[in-house]
Amino acid sequence: MTPLSGRELAADIRAGTAEKATELTALGRAPRLAVVMATADEASAWYVRQITTAAGKTGIACDVTDLTPDASEGPEATAARIEAALVALSGEPAVHGIILQTPLPGGARLAELAAAIDPAKDVDGANPVSLGRLMTGLPAFAPATAEAVLRLLDHHGIALSGQHAVVVGRSPVVGKPVAHLLLDRNATVTICHSRTRDLAAITTQADVLVVAAGRAGLIGPEHVAAGATVIDVGTNATADGGLAGDVDPKVAEVAGALSPVPGGVGPVTTAVLLRHVAEAAAGLGPALVRTDAGRCRGSRRGEPAADGASVADGPRSLLGRRRPP
Ligand code: NAP
Repeated sequence: MTPLSGRELAADIRAGTAEKATELTALGRAPRLAVVMATADEASAWYVRQITTAAGKTGIACDVTDLTPDASEGPEATAARIEAALVALSGEPAVHGIILQTPLPGGARLAELAAAIDPAKDVDGANPVSLGRLMTGLPAFAPATAEAVLRLLDHHGIALSGQHAVVVGRSPVVGKPVAHLLLDRNATVTICHSRTRDLAAITTQADVLVVAAGRAGLIGPEHVAAGATVIDVGTNATADGGLAGDVDPKVAEVAGALSPVPGGVGPVTTAVLLRHVAEAAAGLGPALVRTDAGRCRGSRRGEPAADGASVADGPRSLLGRRRPP
């Protein structure tokens, strides 16, 4: 079984971003990320700490705004406060990237609140405008985790064209954009969710299985075909303060390749996110993530993948359009 570590790839991405951040800082455009969080969720807090630490090492300033409500505040008032904060940050010239951490309190919906993030600063692709642009082939910041999955597969030379990819999870943050990016790379894609009947009957058909369900140990050896590639996106807090994926470690006995948790998708996600901040600070707008027929439409640079396609690698301006409207 090949371990699909993300650490080396993340370090490469961070090195390029640090170089860009140094250049931008010298030009008086020091990249700055604003993180808005509104619950005391442990896994989310862990992720924010990762981002803050990595940003510091990469030369990107990172401000965390904690809007966690107290018991007296109603859900509508909380949502209004979050929205007002996102509007204010969108209008702040010194802020280049904004992310709104999930989970959100009181049933607030990410898509509704993230609509308040300027798409040019939407470095985690949460605004429905960014997602719509991604789905229709226009430049947009992809959700960092979804892009990280594709980058990890490319980095390890996993071919996608013509392969059956199964995604477990259909959230707008991970499952749906990952499925779209895989489809755009000519994989045949099946999406599973909590109402899927006989999960194992479908996941065992996968050449490439991407799991993003948020259920520790959901996928066992009985869910995986011999030799399949398995990407574990899940991050579940454990009782001892650690992190567990959605994939049971015993899957290593049947899979051909498996990404570890921690050390797989997670570090690449953080690196991709910070890269997006540097791209936004450079004022070039988001890169086009996916490709067809081995070409990276509208991008200046591309990383060749095993099947000849590539993940866009760098800021670009497409047809003179520097930013999404
Ligand atoms: P989410 O919004 O809770 O979505 C979970 C998805 O999994 C839903 O579509 C749900 O189906 C499906 N699901 C739940 N239980 C299932 C089951 N027993 N069988 C099949 N499908 C099931 O979570 P998310 O935001 O997408 O995140 C998923 C996981 O990825 C979490 O562990 C999260 O912490 C992690 N994550 C990691 C990173 C990273 O960088 N590594 C970044 C983001 C998220 P329904 O739609 O039917 O409810």
